[in-house]
Amino acid sequence: MAAASQDYSFGPHLIRRTEVFAETPLSFAFVNLKPVVPGHVLISSKRVEPRFTELSDSEVADLWVLAQKVGRVVEKHSNATSLTFAVQDGQHAGQSVPHVHVHVLPRRPGDFENNDEVYDAIDDASKVLARSTGADAPMGEKLDLDAERKIRTPDEMAAEAAELSLYFQ
Ligand code: AMP
Repeated sequence: MAAASQDYSFGPHLIRRTEVFAETPLSFAFVNLKPVVPGHVLISSKRVEPRFTELSDSEVADLWVLAQKVGRVVEKHSNATSLTFAVQDGQHAGQSVPHVHVHVLPRRPGDFENNDEVYDAIDDASKVLARSTGADAPMGEKLDLDAERKIRTPDEMAAEAAELSLYFQ
């Protein structure tokens, strides 16, 4: 495992190397533009492939091994006690960025009143972000301006990535 060596594509988006905190031959881990909880990060295949079901066996293994390592790190770094791993595979499963990615969220007691609300939060946050950045999103979504304000700056994202990258040196 190594520190970021280059920028990567995430669907139509460019992920700067300063936002990538770990990479393997086939996958990379990066901080989230709009985290649902502090420490919510993403692991993606290096190859731009929309559907998880289309990854090769090697890509699947590489992606999930990195997700496991990242999970250990973000749980520790965030002083959390549990983890949510989630994949929205396809538009009608809530996927807003057409490039395979695993969501890793550090979880704490009481962070959501009902545990399953975390999945609504992942889905809703992506829809709001897609609308605010002009990307495709399901119609009829209410734009939550408070949520929009939580979109982070490149400096904020780079600072978090620099902290997390220390665990992978
Ligand atoms: P999904 O709806 O499952 O496709 O999730 C997309 C995720 O990508 C959400 O958590 C977004 O906050 C995140 N995201 C979208 N654009 C970017 C970006 N440019 N950099 C980092 N994260 C992003």
